[in-house]
Amino acid sequence: MKAFAYVNPATEKEAVAALKIDGIAMPLGGGQDLLARMKDYIDSPDRIVNVKGLDATVTATPDGGLKIGSAVKIVDLAENAQVAALYPAVVAAAGEVGTPQIRNQGTVAGNINQRPRCWYFRNEEFVCYKKGGSRCFAVNGENQYHAIFGNDGPSHIVHPSSLAVPFVAYGARFRVVGPNGEREVPAAEYFTMPTLQNVLKENVLDDEELLTHVILPAPGNVKHGHYEVRYKQSHDWPLAFATVVLMMSAANGTTGANGTSGNTIRSARVVLGAVAPVPWRSRPAEEALAGKPLSEATAALAGEAAVSEAKPMSGNVYKVQIAKTAVKRAVMRAAGIKTV
Ligand SMILES: Cc1cc2nc3c(=O)[nH]c(=O)nc-3n(C[C@H](O)[C@H](O)[C@H](O)COP(=O)(O)OP(=O)(O)OC[C@H]3O[C@@H](n4cnc5c(N)ncnc54)[C@H](O)[C@@H]3O)c2cc1C
Ligand code: SF4
Repeated sequence: MKAFAYVNPATEKEAVAALKIDGIAMPLGGGQDLLARMKDYIDSPDRIVNVKGLDATVTATPDGGLKIGSAVKIVDLAENAQVAALYPAVVAAAGEVGTPQIRNQGTVAGNINQRPRCWYFRNEEFVCYKKGGSRCFAVNGENQYHAIFGNDGPSHIVHPSSLAVPFVAYGARFRVVGPNGEREVPAAEYFTMPTLQNVLKENVLDDEELLTHVILPAPGNVKHGHYEVRYKQSHDWPLAFATVVLMMSAANGTTGANGTSGNTIRSARVVLGAVAPVPWRSRPAEEALAGKPLSEATAALAGEAAVSEAKPMSGNVYKVQIAKTAVKRAVMRAAGIKTV
């Protein structure tokens, strides 16, 4: 590993200042992704900036939502009672990340900003688009864990963050600080589809910027469901997973303004993970759910609709069925119907 400097800032301001150097500086959370990339010679920063000292709290916001600090550990998110009460899909996703050791070490910002797991990207021998090369080895290579949506290229990664998916589904905003001050970015716009111009990155963060908070709005009258499918249940990234957030027309047992029952879905957010270069919002599934009663039959329709536009690669057709099932079962969980 190349020698590097280590900086331990006490404040956001110091952390941002420490990222500005003549060379490459990178923030360090729990280090599980960054240090692995350094050991594999994928990244060789001149300086790493420890950001575990930034905000590690979960606080209520005036509008009834929550503000989650970037340094909150995944285990603490998974065990937080306020998060569980308002955003159960976040707790479900956090509780299934990797293993207890990974959840104990990993931070919210590190999880959101982790780099792709594509095995060509992780092997220094393969200089693909994401490392400044001029081809994607997955196209004619081993692509069984790659994208089934958004496959226009040039890269066919799936976004690796489990937390990003419920954050997008709940309409979170990400607070970012940099040399020019702070800004808030909707989670859905933080992650970027690959183009030849931006393929070296997966999000809108500039090199000298930091993600400091995830701000979740008050959920309102919603039902929530989350479902993940893994190859190895003990530890692994999911093969496909889904968060659904259903805005209901009225509270259970009551009648909505237009005469709809409390079991009618007014509108829905359906977001899939591990299927596309970004957390993938499925408009066809959302349309299939809107105006319908929340039932197993509606869940099946949403699953079908969710994969209607899938474009799998040569080795990952099997993921289409898994994605369909994940959406169906996430909706069933929102309905309180038992799933396996
Ligand atoms: C066997 C295994 C199974 C796993 N399964 C899953 C899974 O199911 N789901 C899942 O989501 N993940 C999974 N992971 C990945 C793991 O959860 C992530 O590596 C971890 O969450 C990263 O968090 P960290 O704090 O250690 O990140 P770090 O390694 O410290 O940072 C990751 C990246 O984020 C950047 N970064 C860190 N903090 C900030 C900040 N504040 N602002 C901007 N950039 C920042 C770093 O520079 C780095 O590029 C798995 C890992 C392993 C080894
Ligand atoms: S999918 Fe992306 S990261 Fe993987 S080889 Fe292709 S360009 Fe590289």
